Amino acid sequence: MNEDRNCQWRIAARPSGNVTREDFVYEEQPIPDIGPGEFLLRTLYLGIRPVMRMYMQGIEIAGEKPLAIGDVIHGRGVAQVMRSKHRDFAAGDVVQGQLGWQTWKASRGTEAERFRKLEYSGLSYSLGAGVLGMNGFSAYTGLVHCGYPLAGDVAVVSAAAGGVGSTVVQIARILGCRVIGIAGGTRKCALLTDLGCEATIDYKNEDIDARLSELAPGGIDVYFDNVGGTTLETCMEHLAHHARVVLCGSISEYMLDEPFGLKNYTNLRMVNASMTGFFVYNFEHLFDEATEHLAKWIKSDELRPVEDVVEGFENMPDALARLYDGDNVGVQVCRVRPDPGDPGDTPLRGVSPK
Ligand code: NAP
Repeated sequence: MNEDRNCQWRIAARPSGNVTREDFVYEEQPIPDIGPGEFLLRTLYLGIRPVMRMYMQGIEIAGEKPLAIGDVIHGRGVAQVMRSKHRDFAAGDVVQGQLGWQTWKASRGTEAERFRKLEYSGLSYSLGAGVLGMNGFSAYTGLVHCGYPLAGDVAVVSAAAGGVGSTVVQIARILGCRVIGIAGGTRKCALLTDLGCEATIDYKNEDIDARLSELAPGGIDVYFDNVGGTTLETCMEHLAHHARVVLCGSISEYMLDEPFGLKNYTNLRMVNASMTGFFVYNFEHLFDEATEHLAKWIKSDELRPVEDVVEGFENMPDALARLYDGDNVGVQVCRVRPDPGDPGDTPLRGVSPK
């Protein structure tokens, strides 16, 4: 990465199947100047999310504008304010928000960018691109405010060793649920046991239907769905009375031309169950509450942030591909630069003294 330029990843082509290097183009631009009401951001961490492939397809989603070929890819992350002519942000602040796949940004702090200052102490700022960012907020608000977990509930989580899933599993365990995690492969299932799952289902090697009959004979009270498709359909066959199904994501369907088309949704009626979709930004009023709980659990060692850190901005395209290949364990984050003050930090490179 060239520290003296603004390095960017832009869209070269609409992806077909998983993203490949050919779908991206790397560019270098001058580090932007700031005008009145603006502040200059130096990217530290970028979160990598499944939705980014949809941005690359030009889909208007997650409140972000559709992207054309040649545009910088949307992406949220953590950055340090280096200079500011904005009344709400000062040089030295560390913020989380919409940065795009680039190493510098001049921002006006718009509503769409949703910049939040990271004010917790004693924890790595990488968490602001993961468990203490939108990923963790999705886990917290989706589980607590849509799934209504109760102590003793059987909670089933899919993509349980992924970013959102690994946090949902632990919150459910903290709240006293009996947690069953569904993930691909023995390595991920072993992690889930460490994180406190009572049982795991390796969906690549085990039959989810048979395993749920064995593990949850009384049915599932909360199903937190990250994958959709046949996993959702199977879990819908095992709902307990008054079960809550939380639709967080459907990664197994994102590369299909047509939606999967769930057929057994009427099972909800048989057991007075509910199914709730949610979008994390609709819970913005709960982000402070989520931060408070998540940071407290992390500091007390009740919640272990599981981060999968890819080193170096140049590896962003591969980091996105890893999500669809199922290679990531925990929250996929790219470390663009170290935390301020850590070894290797060179904050003044590229910043003009103005
Ligand atoms: P993630 O779970 O880390 O996503 C990658 C994981 O998904 C992979 O490691 C893989 O795990 C699994 N996966 C990939 N392809 C799959 C397939 N075809 N079938 C089943 N599993 C597959 O990603 P995340 O960022 O934490 O997001 C989790 C889900 O939440 C995504 O669907 C995302 O779109 C959604 N989301 C929604 C909101 C919201 O506001 N509603 C906010 C954030 C995220 P395995 O190896 O276990 O298969």
